[in-house]
Amino acid sequence: MGLENAIPVDGYMTTQLSRVINWARRSSVWPMPFATACCGIELMATASSRYDLARFGAEVFRFSPRQADLLIVAGRVTTKMMPVLQRIYLQMTEPKWVISMGACASTGGLFNTYAVVQGIDQFLPVDVYVPGCPPRPEMLIEGVMAIQRIIDEDNIPFEGDGSRKPLRLNLVTPNSTTVDMTINAS
Ligand code: SF4
Repeated sequence: MGLENAIPVDGYMTTQLSRVINWARRSSVWPMPFATACCGIELMATASSRYDLARFGAEVFRFSPRQADLLIVAGRVTTKMMPVLQRIYLQMTEPKWVISMGACASTGGLFNTYAVVQGIDQFLPVDVYVPGCPPRPEMLIEGVMAIQRIIDEDNIPFEGDGSRKPLRLNLVTPNSTTVDMTINAS
């Protein structure tokens, strides 16, 4: 991989254990897809060769929560589904992350009805809200990268009791009043 040329053969490297662990964590974020509607199609496209989520080490979609650490909720969630989704979240490995993909997952979208949860953050600790109806794959990738940046900086926030604080990052689209795609912590 060219490392032999960059590093002297008889040299050695030192680093902090936490940096190595964080490098491994951010390079192997394994998603658990919970796709219930049209946003799920964009989620599938994100893993396709055109967008290639594998470039970010996050293409290994697991359908067992015990092998996943990133829950991506793509689409509307009904009140009947929510206990199942909560159980899936609880079964995932720590430290785990949640992306709310699209208007329906984040707010109920246009389904303003008693049967649809009006925002999954009422029941789950959401780390990144990806806007759109549906969001483009690039936007979802930006959401994954936002989590990777937090892991990389060793910035995983914890509550006083040791549980992890949800990040609650809102991605801003390039077409909104803010020109750059930036992240706002709220
Ligand atoms: S946000 Fe739009 S595209 Fe996504 S599930 Fe809702 S209606 Fe479908």
